[in-house]
Amino acid sequence: MSQLTTAEPLLQVNALDIEYRTRERRVRATHDVSFDVWPGDRFILLGPSGCGKSSLLKSVGGFIKPLRGEITLAGSRISAPGPDRMMVFQEFDQLPPWKTVLQNVMFPLIASRKATRAEARDQALYFLDKVGLANFANALPHTLSGGMKQRVAIARALAMRPRMLLMDEPFAALDALTRRTMQEELLSLWDEERFTLLFVTHSIEEALVVGSRILVLSPHPGRVRAELNCHQYSLNDFGSPAFQAAASHIHHLLFPPAVNVPSSSAIQELDHVTATVYSS
Ligand code: ADP
Ligand code: MG
Repeated sequence: MSQLTTAEPLLQVNALDIEYRTRERRVRATHDVSFDVWPGDRFILLGPSGCGKSSLLKSVGGFIKPLRGEITLAGSRISAPGPDRMMVFQEFDQLPPWKTVLQNVMFPLIASRKATRAEARDQALYFLDKVGLANFANALPHTLSGGMKQRVAIARALAMRPRMLLMDEPFAALDALTRRTMQEELLSLWDEERFTLLFVTHSIEEALVVGSRILVLSPHPGRVRAELNCHQYSLNDFGSPAFQAAASHIHHLLFPPAVNVPSSSAIQELDHVTATVYSS
């Protein structure tokens, strides 16, 4: 986990174009996307389905090489996956089913030689306790609910003490109540551990609740529409006038009414939201 310094951004994404090439055609996933993530940020990539959020996350993870642009982490260019960036996905099947919960969380620590078996066990038990699963250490994944499986995946990622935690719609497949609980738990974990989070969602409400900053992306191919501060919102603000106003402001950025550039009145209404709006 990163030390909180304000000297320079931890992650710098600069003018990123991501393209997929198949034999028949090219698909442009993102165009000219730039953003900085600072240590301790809860940085959200928000946009409609197909706008390139997962592609951006995978390129930060080192799984996709961008067509143009570059990504640096703590000043070094990202060119491959590494244990300094741990991913949590939406799918519940990201845990090998033959390993117990404890073995699942210990595995990356041992495989990456970051820890001895005894250290890995301590570290895994610490984080399983943090996500409320201390009593399930010896359970197999198929005996757990979807929410519990996601908690294991979060514990497994955090136990590695990565520089960044990358999450791709981790709560999207959960029922609404569990999703709310998981958001709350993630925020209290962040309060205790202060990791740097890069979190993908297509839900405006989730972005406002989970994030400290939001990068709003246009539909396919994803371009930056705006970057917003949203650290002032928590689950307690859900439904408050200020929260609703912020949500509707973002809605207009994502789906501009007639013209593409959002009206200045929409921004002034929200003088408590610091917005940088990019015309497209
Ligand atoms: P999001 O996560 O925002 O829904 P993605 O990053 O998954 O968006 O996809 C962005 C675009 O790239 C979409 O048009 C999608 O169809 C395309 N795409 C994603 N993965 C591939 C792939 N492996 N091959 C070809 N096209 C892809
Ligand atoms: Mg996606």
